[in-house]
Amino acid sequence: MLNSLKLSDIAARAGGRLVGQDQLVTSVSTDTREALAGALFVALVGDRFNGHAFIDQAVKQGALAVLVSEPCTVEPRIEVQNTTEAYGEIGRLSRDGFTCPVVAITGSNGKTSVKDWLADVLSNEAKVLKTFSNLNNQIGVPKTLLSASSDDKFAIIEAGTSFPGEIERLGHAIHGDVVVLTNASGSHLQGFGSIQGIAIEKGKLIETAKPDGVIILNLDDASYPYWESILDGRECLTFSVENTAATLYAKSIKVSAVGSEFELVFKGASYPMKLDRPGRHHIANAMAVALAMVGLGYDFSDVVQRIEHPAQVPGRMEQIVTKSKALMINDCYNASPKSVEAAIDVVALFADQQKWVVLGALGELGELESSIHTGLGNYAAAAGIDRLITIGPIAELAANGFEQHGGAGVAHRCETKSEATELLASLNSDHVILVKGSRSAKMEDIVNALKD
Ligand code: ATP
Ligand code: MG
Repeated sequence: MLNSLKLSDIAARAGGRLVGQDQLVTSVSTDTREALAGALFVALVGDRFNGHAFIDQAVKQGALAVLVSEPCTVEPRIEVQNTTEAYGEIGRLSRDGFTCPVVAITGSNGKTSVKDWLADVLSNEAKVLKTFSNLNNQIGVPKTLLSASSDDKFAIIEAGTSFPGEIERLGHAIHGDVVVLTNASGSHLQGFGSIQGIAIEKGKLIETAKPDGVIILNLDDASYPYWESILDGRECLTFSVENTAATLYAKSIKVSAVGSEFELVFKGASYPMKLDRPGRHHIANAMAVALAMVGLGYDFSDVVQRIEHPAQVPGRMEQIVTKSKALMINDCYNASPKSVEAAIDVVALFADQQKWVVLGALGELGELESSIHTGLGNYAAAAGIDRLITIGPIAELAANGFEQHGGAGVAHRCETKSEATELLASLNSDHVILVKGSRSAKMEDIVNALKD
């Protein structure tokens, strides 16, 4: 943690009551598996756990104080209504001590890709605080903000959302100097009802940014006009594929199975760029990273070369050779409708190979579950996919869409992942196999079974 915090300051910020003596804490923890000497232990309450059950343990391990929402006799303690909300406020208290700029990233797709890419580039020259893995929720964001150290030169924080109101709270804690909104599409539709609901939610990261913050927006996204309308005087830099009205746009794009070549045009000057990562969505992500760096004060002409080799994020379009020598694209980390389309587009670039797609169910789509799966099957058929293998009764809807579209492709409906693995086990270097599904579908079981 950056600075020691006074319990009375924490109580005031969290709207709570301090019972017992005021003291300085040197860390804030929610987990008794962490070192707790000198710490404030925050008792979080989740669906499957209640931190209040660990209070005695935390005190035994040296916690100086506790923050609670349930009856407790430990002193000193801070009593609040909701310990998760209080934890967010403590995250903000820590953030207020930052002297380094903070980049906040949200969007339906590409948050982690952009976060890791940007952090990777910046960490070549400076110490960077970044969201670990995908810890982008109400617990992960304060945790990241509380893990800052005085030699951090940049903080890159990912903010995710599953229900309305979450980004506003996270944004309040992050208070970005630079905010990146990658896009808004139909992930977590169940919680938000519509794309518009998602755009409003993501927009909260703009509204909670610093008044003199720089906002990076995707001009190609249908929600752009809404986001532009809530800038409230903040500077905005836009990116686009081929729209010359954007601050930064890509043109003369050549995509292939091994990557993309294109030109980036920034303020009238053109810069050639080669990306060794296939798929148009990486071009959009590259531009988001580049503009975030401009927002941090970098000269655009210095940015291009630095971003050409993005670090591989595990489970995102990761190319792996299987035991039987087929090329497997492991994109099983998660799936939203747009990211499935983006991944299918990449597979379609493999002109000389048989193109197979293995799809697990997409979750949290609410009443659009059927139409979205059917639509994705259709999309795969139109993209020239040769085989679509679906796992389970929900993904099977995609097989229906695939067949309805017609064409030479064949759909297989598997009940289990092991059934699918058997089908795939003998494919060779003439085949490329995309493996994708929502986190809940755990499609890595197939990847692990096939990989060498
Ligand atoms: P999550 O909500 O799970 O945190 P995320 O927004 O962090 O997701 P990533 O983990 O970066 O997104 O990528 C998730 C999936 O989306 C991957 O399959 C990736 O290839 C794909 N993807 C990445 N960037 C984009 C983009 N700009 N547009 C569409 N799909 C993308
Ligand atoms: Mg993520």
